[in-house]
Amino acid sequence: MSTTKTALVTGGGSGIGLAVANRLRADGYHVATIDLNASETDFSYIADVTDRAQIDAALAEIHAALGPVTILVNAAGRDSFRRFTDISFEDWKKIVDINLHGVFHTIQAVLPDMIEAGWGRIVNISSSSTHSGVPYMSAYVAAKSGVNGLTKSLALEYGPAGITVNAVPPGFIDTPMLRKAETRGNLGDINATINATPVRRIGRPEDIAAACAFFISEEAGYITGQILGVNGGRNT
Ligand code: NAP
Repeated sequence: MSTTKTALVTGGGSGIGLAVANRLRADGYHVATIDLNASETDFSYIADVTDRAQIDAALAEIHAALGPVTILVNAAGRDSFRRFTDISFEDWKKIVDINLHGVFHTIQAVLPDMIEAGWGRIVNISSSSTHSGVPYMSAYVAAKSGVNGLTKSLALEYGPAGITVNAVPPGFIDTPMLRKAETRGNLGDINATINATPVRRIGRPEDIAAACAFFISEEAGYITGQILGVNGGRNT
């Protein structure tokens, strides 16, 4: 029987999730991805994280192909820029659904495997916007702040079961999401932001993947409930 651990990465079709999937595969794990869009990775499943039936169905296939899932990285997400008074409750719920409820579904779906194994690693990708707040991103920031809170509570609840739960809030990472926001005029002057970033560059998806790989590693077993900002020093 294989002792290789299996990881599930949501949002694995693009940007940060894709880089995490590639990194974990390079580190020797079996990796499956879930995304709304096809991924270039093996074992990629098209599913919506807001739809529990789709997640359960994808997990059943992942089980059959790769065995129990004991590593979960939640990177699926979608941004939103709108003045608070212009947000309909339907739009609000949609953003919370994708960015927070999706994390609820995937964690609840994979926890039984981790409990059974007596070992697990969960890494939630939140957002550096939760450090500071961002105008016109209230729904997104509220949802991502919920992810940070969920991370801390689950770390306490499942530490005794051998499962660590941590969050990585990225800041200003060069991905399709960021470039789409730039094109729509939501980000202002990117070069001005880079000049105001202490390390003087934009983040790369691989920067986030490296933090995830550390949290997932065996040597990070004493680290749980932590929020590790990866943002070039813009938020400390
Ligand atoms: P990305 O390139 O857009 O990748 C996110 C992926 O998640 C996309 O393929 C997206 O599909 C997918 N997705 C969206 N909703 C989904 C759903 N309901 N079910 C399954 N998959 C879904 O964005 P990214 O920049 O890599 O973002 C990854 C994570 O980092 C997100 O949670 C984001 O909020 C967070 N983040 C990113 C930055 C940054 O600077 N890039 C900063 C802070 C936080 P669609 O393209 O169809 O939406």
